[in-house]
Amino acid sequence: MSPPTRVQVDTDAQTLTITWDDDHTSVFPLDALRQACPCANCNGDAVEAIAPPAEPREPETTWTDLSIEPAGSVGIRITWDDGHNAGIYRWDRLRRLQPKDERTT
Ligand SMILES: [Zn+2]
Repeated sequence: MSPPTRVQVDTDAQTLTITWDDDHTSVFPLDALRQACPCANCNGDAVEAIAPPAEPREPETTWTDLSIEPAGSVGIRITWDDGHNAGIYRWDRLRRLQPKDERTT
């Protein structure tokens, strides 16, 4: 699949926003994304869906110092505040975690 056109972290809103090449936008709460870390230790592969943030709430953890780097052409590697960066978030999986919502346009 094509890589997204835009990947943006908002540490105020605690979200990672991905804009796909078909203009679909996925908004992931950082907390949920951390829990979905696909590395062998975290085994977040079991996470099948991440809902977009419904309304502002107090996250369990506030992530303020994460960095994102490309992992080849397949996805991104996120280094979290806690230093963890073992998981590669593949584009196809991210898209599957929050597919296009057909109810809205
Ligand atoms: Zn992990």
